[in-house]
Amino acid sequence: MAPTSQDEHDSPALTVVGDMWSPACAAIRTFLSRNEIACRWVQPSDPTGRELLAAHGFAADDTPVLIAADGRVLKPADEEQLAQWVGLHTTPSSGGYDLLVVGGGPAGMAAAVYGASEGLHTVLLERWAIGGQAGLSSRIENYLGFPDGISGAVLTDRARRQAGKFGAELVISLRADALEATDEDVTVHCAGGTTVSARAAIIATGATFRTLDAPGVEDFTGRGVYYFSALTEAPLCAGSDVYIVGGANSAGQAAVYFASCARRVILLVRAESLATEMSAYLIDQIASIPEIHVRTGTEIAGASGGTHLERLTLRHRRTGATEEVPATWLFAFIGADPATTWLGPGFARDDRGYLLTGPDIATVAGADSPWPLTRPPLHLETTVPGVFAAGDVRAFNAHRVAAAVGEGSMAVMLVHEYLRD
Ligand SMILES: Cc1cc2nc3c(=O)[nH]c(=O)nc-3n(C[C@H](O)[C@H](O)[C@H](O)COP(=O)(O)OP(=O)(O)OC[C@H]3O[C@@H](n4cnc5c(N)ncnc54)[C@H](O)[C@@H]3O)c2cc1C
Repeated sequence: MAPTSQDEHDSPALTVVGDMWSPACAAIRTFLSRNEIACRWVQPSDPTGRELLAAHGFAADDTPVLIAADGRVLKPADEEQLAQWVGLHTTPSSGGYDLLVVGGGPAGMAAAVYGASEGLHTVLLERWAIGGQAGLSSRIENYLGFPDGISGAVLTDRARRQAGKFGAELVISLRADALEATDEDVTVHCAGGTTVSARAAIIATGATFRTLDAPGVEDFTGRGVYYFSALTEAPLCAGSDVYIVGGANSAGQAAVYFASCARRVILLVRAESLATEMSAYLIDQIASIPEIHVRTGTEIAGASGGTHLERLTLRHRRTGATEEVPATWLFAFIGADPATTWLGPGFARDDRGYLLTGPDIATVAGADSPWPLTRPPLHLETTVPGVFAAGDVRAFNAHRVAAAVGEGSMAVMLVHEYLRD
């Protein structure tokens, strides 16, 4: 397919010049899109790209570079620098708060909205972009109140505005690296040396996607292989075959989304049936779309190509037989693990690493319960008093937007109870 440039805005304040198959360029475009920063993307080989690079003294090898309408130019060293340069709020305005929320997905955003609206001086730290996993969804159809569905981007935008309306401070591009708690307060230490303290904290760091473990696949990440990403790349896939790996709702949604622009969508599922993990409404939708071809009992066994992905090796799980197919686009939605490794050993977890809270602490840990106080833990309280957990990061959570929003809101009620005592 011929490389194309992409206009994402009629009169963009920002232009990204970078190659279509550059993982760094893909990461920048995704970061900007997830943070709702409109940009125009041009290829270095396009006449406009060549002209812009020459005007600012760059060569094609220097890309990706960003050029602002006011003439400022950046060759970003990392996401933090990029976030600052595009004007995101990256530094907390105070050292101390009533409530500190870590993670800006649905659970964290609900906690920020409820915390700030109920008078708590609230700060939320997000390492990448507000919206979390839900922000990656092309259409959420089962969230109460949205009978026609709502895209993750729109839901995120509304949540961001709602949190801002109540005065919650949202800090982007700040990754929590460690947490310390005393009887008085909780302090989070962030990458880059920033520390933030509050009287109580809610951990809403959700889950981090898993990557495919097959020979060659890693080499093509950002060059044909993408994880939990559909919205930014979809316009490039028009008229092509698109492979999607995964058997849960996120993969099903992506298949439906790509079917509107791709020539064919091939959904690869390890299980023998879609019903193993996918909601019935999505299975029905998929069955009604002729462009989607479902291949159950199939997994990726390898990837190969040159400057970008060109071929996939598929393995039939029952027979072990393999086949090689031409492929330029592979999108993986293959599950996630809890984002809890940054927390210290004081936090009790289940055997998969999800945080134990409230009554689950005693049920799972039994007589060896690590809960340190004589009072029982509050419902969503972790084994560190004053630190609560909400959403996908919590053991026995339902892994749904509604569950995350519900727990984020409920955690704030429990924070009030904790602060009262
Ligand atoms: C593509 C896709 C489609 C989906 N569709 C649906 C659907 O239709 N319906 C439905 O109900 N559910 C759906 N889900 C599931 C739903 O999105 C999740 O259950 C929900 O987002 C969980 O919210 P959360 O806030 O607990 O965690 P997350 O959404 O995972 O958010 C956690 C946030 O914490 C941040 N973070 C992690 N570690 C740190 C750190 N150390 N410091 C700072 N920040 C950190 C992350 O960057 C992230 O933004 C979908 C999920 C995906 C991936």
